Amino acid sequence: MAQGIWIVAEQREGELRKISFELTSEARRLADQMGQSVTVILLGSNIKGKAPEFGKYGADKVIVADDTRLATYTTDAYVSVIAQLAQSGEPAIILLGASVQGKDLSGRLAARLGVGMVQDCVAFSLEDGNLVAKRPIYAGKAYATATFKDSSPQIATARPNVLELNEPDGSKSAEVVDAEFSLDDSQLKTKVVEIIQGEGAKVDLTEAERIVSGGRGMKGPENYTILADIIDATVGASRSAVDSGWRPHSDQVGQTGKVVSPNLYIACGISGAIQHLAGMSTSKYIVAINKDPEAPIFQKADYGIVGDLFEVVPALTEEIKKIL
Ligand SMILES: Cc1cc2nc3c(=O)[nH]c(=O)nc-3n(C[C@H](O)[C@H](O)[C@H](O)COP(=O)(O)OP(=O)(O)OC[C@H]3O[C@@H](n4cnc5c(N)ncnc54)[C@H](O)[C@@H]3O)c2cc1C
Repeated sequence: MAQGIWIVAEQREGELRKISFELTSEARRLADQMGQSVTVILLGSNIKGKAPEFGKYGADKVIVADDTRLATYTTDAYVSVIAQLAQSGEPAIILLGASVQGKDLSGRLAARLGVGMVQDCVAFSLEDGNLVAKRPIYAGKAYATATFKDSSPQIATARPNVLELNEPDGSKSAEVVDAEFSLDDSQLKTKVVEIIQGEGAKVDLTEAERIVSGGRGMKGPENYTILADIIDATVGASRSAVDSGWRPHSDQVGQTGKVVSPNLYIACGISGAIQHLAGMSTSKYIVAINKDPEAPIFQKADYGIVGDLFEVVPALTEEIKKIL
């Protein structure tokens, strides 16, 4: 019988991504309710040294697949390894991040295992031992609750920065074991030859804790420099700003851009079109700066400042610097 909750960790260039610990923390909470264990699946090259980190967040066991061919994510290699592990380990639930990698991997993994999956969830619970997943629909206007029939594993992805992160506890540890798998080179259709870093931000927008976004109200690309200064934040943009060539597409937040869930989202000169809200409405605190008091963004904002952003942003930066 299928048992236990697995999470698939994410690493980039050997560095563990925060979503991995958020998933471990959530898996611990769910596993405690089920009286079951939490296992982390970690793929990479020379990555084993990072495995003990997961114990601090509540993992019981870390299964490490260490292989040079797994250094960088490729769909076919990762799906092959995780599917083999899942077929022999028979977990009840597998959680992944709703990142670019996690969304790609989860769909293929579910298809390979012949099971259902739920994408981009913001909360989980259990009902009769089955996973119940809550996810935004209609561009964040409503939430749908999805559950699974008695199949396993039940696969779901979670939006970064939404699940509560456990306080790391150094007194806790996890058992670290090597994964048993085979990778046949002839079956690997993709190979990463080179990675070229985008020009954008240091912190990926989808993982940023503070985002300051600028829209058409910014008036031009040169004005974006005033934004990140506010609180040492990552800069985002509306589609209008991206379409105008002021920011790269990698900065776009929204339905056809990135979905973000920072603790703080400051929207400057953004009207709040439904397609923009689709990408940021699950942010913890939303602050809107707009000179039009009727702008729809104010309906979504926790705090609204009606005014010219070129006066408000420098004044806000000044005040925050004083406080800090
Ligand atoms: C299929 C589809 C997908 C889309 N996907 C996305 C997406 O992913 N992301 C996205 O953002 N949009 C998306 N859009 C576009 C979306 O509908 C809006 O057109 C866009 O979000 C508007 O961008 P904006 O708010 O910057 O510009 P505007 O709507 O023009 O708003 C500019 C705002 O700036 C304010 N302003 C102007 N000057 C100042 C000032 N000095 N100080 C303060 N405020 C000022 C104005 O009052 C106004 O509210 C999509 C549209 C479609 C049809």
